[in-house]
Amino acid sequence: MELYNTIIEKIDGMLGSSQPRRFDYDPAKCWEDVGGNQLVMMKEAAYELGGDNKPAVNYACVTSTDGFADRDEILVYGKDLKEISGSVPFARIAVIKVKELSGENEDDTEPLFRAIQDIDFVKYHVYPKGYMIRSSSDSFREQVRVSKEAVKKGITFEQVGNSYISQFKKNPDILSVKMIFLTIDDADYAEMKKDAKKVRDITKTLSKILEGMATDCHSCNLREICDEVEGLKELHFGKEKKEFKG
Ligand code: SF4
Repeated sequence: MELYNTIIEKIDGMLGSSQPRRFDYDPAKCWEDVGGNQLVMMKEAAYELGGDNKPAVNYACVTSTDGFADRDEILVYGKDLKEISGSVPFARIAVIKVKELSGENEDDTEPLFRAIQDIDFVKYHVYPKGYMIRSSSDSFREQVRVSKEAVKKGITFEQVGNSYISQFKKNPDILSVKMIFLTIDDADYAEMKKDAKKVRDITKTLSKILEGMATDCHSCNLREICDEVEGLKELHFGKEKKEFKG
């Protein structure tokens, strides 16, 4: 499934000038998870990622193409959690590789659909202790309040990234995940925000198509995104043909 590939291809060009720290996925190195919503009060907070109206972007792209996310890894651009002392810009980007969709049977869209559903599920089901995530799907923001206690205990993006990846990997259709965390100043957060919106639009359209909506492009309110993103129309009409045959 290549619907998000043009967005994934842009990522490397938006990450600023610094070299990342890279960590292989290690499920033994997840940060403690509290298993549900938590409250980090302002007086307990060390700082906020994306605080003081700084950028705070989040999106996740799914692909089955080789070369984008071939292994489970965590990349950190900029200061790590235990090195930050005040509000910083923030982005978290996930690139998720799913099983290849061969196009030869009726269930080809299922791994993709499940992976996409899992992205939202995982987004709202990771609760690292002392790392309070506040998301807004309308503005694509993901702001994080980090507690003084977590910083004192040495919380890192490696550990938080491992927590996310271990959740994703509960889905057998997900082969590997690249988690990118950014806190540097010179990344292109404005462009990332645009791509976060585009990802949301593609995912919404895809969900509608997979739900089996009507097929008249002229009267469809999703036409703009289908005209822009290669593969959506083919997916819709390919699916209709299979259902008609079946
Ligand atoms: S392919 Fe046509 S009918 Fe299907 S979602 Fe896109 S615009 Fe709508």
